[in-house]
Order: sequence, then structure tokens, then C-alpha cells
Amino acid sequence: MKWIAFLEDYFTRGLRLAILVCVLALLFPSARFYALLILSLLLFLHGVTTWKRGGWRYVVPLLVLAAVGLTALGVANHERNKVGDYLAVHRPLALSLAPDGVYEGEGPGNNGPLRVRLRVLDGRLTSVRVVRHRDAVYAFDDVLPRLVGRATLDTSDLAGFVFRNERSLAGLQAAMENAVLPAIFDAPRMSSFAKSVFYVTANEGGRITLNALAILFIVLLAFDYAFGPTLRPGLGQSLNCYNCQACVGVCPVKMVDGDPFPMIMVLQARLGNVARVAELAKYCVGCGKCAAKCPVGNSGPSIASAAFQVWRSRERRRRKIEIQEARHG
Ligand code: SF4
Ligand code: SF4
Repeated sequence: MKWIAFLEDYFTRGLRLAILVCVLALLFPSARFYALLILSLLLFLHGVTTWKRGGWRYVVPLLVLAAVGLTALGVANHERNKVGDYLAVHRPLALSLAPDGVYEGEGPGNNGPLRVRLRVLDGRLTSVRVVRHRDAVYAFDDVLPRLVGRATLDTSDLAGFVFRNERSLAGLQAAMENAVLPAIFDAPRMSSFAKSVFYVTANEGGRITLNALAILFIVLLAFDYAFGPTLRPGLGQSLNCYNCQACVGVCPVKMVDGDPFPMIMVLQARLGNVARVAELAKYCVGCGKCAAKCPVGNSGPSIASAAFQVWRSRERRRRKIEIQEARHG
């Protein structure tokens, strides 16, 4: 299939994983910074170690990206500091400064972002609702009614009313301030640019981050290693192997380089390592005993022949590219 060959040529496993990390990193707010950092470091190391074979193509863009990222972070931090300075002078924020209306804002909660919706009428809070948070479901039940009717966004006297955690209370106050601040005419505002910089670099170094990274890792493995073989005729069957070694028991070869044979061929095919399968295939004598024993229908010769087809077409393409490169000096 030509489109698979195209994907293999231009979307190598490294690039596929990089794209997936980027996509999934955006889906896991608390892990995205770690994920992107790990990805960048791996690409950088790969680029440095393969510098002469074109690794510079990774390193140079990464260095440019790092410089742009640091500059963007500096600009975004400058904006955040201006907001912080304003709040330091005007805290607690008087609601008489904000026009009547309904506002929504986000702050850093205990286990992740916390979002509030509040209504201001005649300089007073008439309702406050936490619309999203990752605390205990009842964490804010006692504190929200006590905020209604206040003329300032002050939570300093409510420390005992949030379930267990002071960070949640600080996050609630920050979320309310972030909601109201853009409506106050002389207050500094964070630009969309600064918000998007902080969105990408958001990082919660807690339990959630490690969980998210674990999920990320599992999804990457499942996606890349499972779908790779299924796209190739004859190799998808290798995913069914459950290492029972029944094939090894009947195979006259049994071991190659310390690995159980032919199971190792099946496992290498599953990983997409068709070059290794092609190497191992020469040990098979084609007796067919493994096919009769495998409970999921695998057999050494069928996996070897499917992997060999893939390996041969890859080798042809590789040689063609080498010849073209040699011609163009
Ligand atoms: S066909 Fe090959 S892999 Fe299968 S049992 Fe015979 S020698 Fe072993
Ligand atoms: S018999 Fe089939 S399922 Fe069992 S290890 Fe061999 S290939 Fe895998």
C-alpha cells in the first residue's frame, strides 16, 4: 500500500511519537509542560548524536524555539507582574470599581484549575458559583454563601470554611479577581498572547501530573505499537500473541541468540522491527509445527514472510533515496 509507505518515509516512528506527544500534551493540562520538555530534550539529544547525519536539522529549530519560548515567557511574565503590582495596591478589590454583570474567571486550585462564575450588582456580590474544580465535591459548600453580599473580594476571614486546604481558598480568590479585573477600566489586562503562553507552560508538579504522564505514556505505546502492525497485511496477527510459548515448545530451532524462537519473531514484528524479523527468518526450516500449536493462529513462516515483504520494500526505497542523493552530490 503506497500510502503506508508514504507515512513510513515521512512520518517516522520518532516523528509520529512527537506529534502524538504534542497532541496529548495539550489534552493533559498539568502534564503538558513536562511532556513537551521531555520531547524537546530527546529530540535535542538525538540531534546532537546524529549531527553529521542531519541531526542539526533538529538541533537548530529547537534552539530557535527555545529562544522564542524564553522571550515569550519573559513578555508574558512582565504582563503578569503588572497585574500582580496592581492587585498588591488594590487588594481586596472593591466591587464598586466593576460594572454590574456576570463574570467568569479561573485561578490555580488545589489539584488543578478552578473556575468561578459570579454576579455583581450595585457594587456587591449577589451570587458566586464554582463551576469547575478538582477538590472534594463539597469543598466550597460552606464558603460560597459567606461571600454573597460582600462589597470586596476578600476571603482572608474564611480560612476555616474551605474543606482542608488553604490553596483552594487562595485559588478561589484568584479566580474571582481574574474574573472581575478585566472589567475594571484602569486595571492592567493580560493579553491573549500572555494567556496562551501560560496555558502552554502551565505545570502542576503534583500527583495529577504523574498520573497524566503515565496515561500519556500508555496511550502512546498503545497507539503507535498497536496500529503500526495492523496497517500491514499479515502483521496485525502478531498483536494477538500472548507469549504462551507453545510455538517455542514444538519448534526444532527453539532459541536464537538467547531468545525463544519463533515467538521472538512475532514480538519483533509487533514492534515493527521488520529488519530483525528478516534476519531471524533464515533460522526457520518451514516445518509448520508452530502453526498447528499457536492458539491465536500465528506461525513463524507467515509472520516472517509478511515482515520480509515490508522490509524488502523499505530497503528498495532506502536504496533509491541513497542513489538519488549520490547523483545530486
Ligand atoms: S515453521 Fe519455522 S518457526 Fe515454525 S516450528 Fe518450524 S522451524 Fe519453528
Ligand atoms: S504460540 Fe502463538 S500465542 Fe503462543 S507465543 Fe507462540 S505466537 Fe505467541
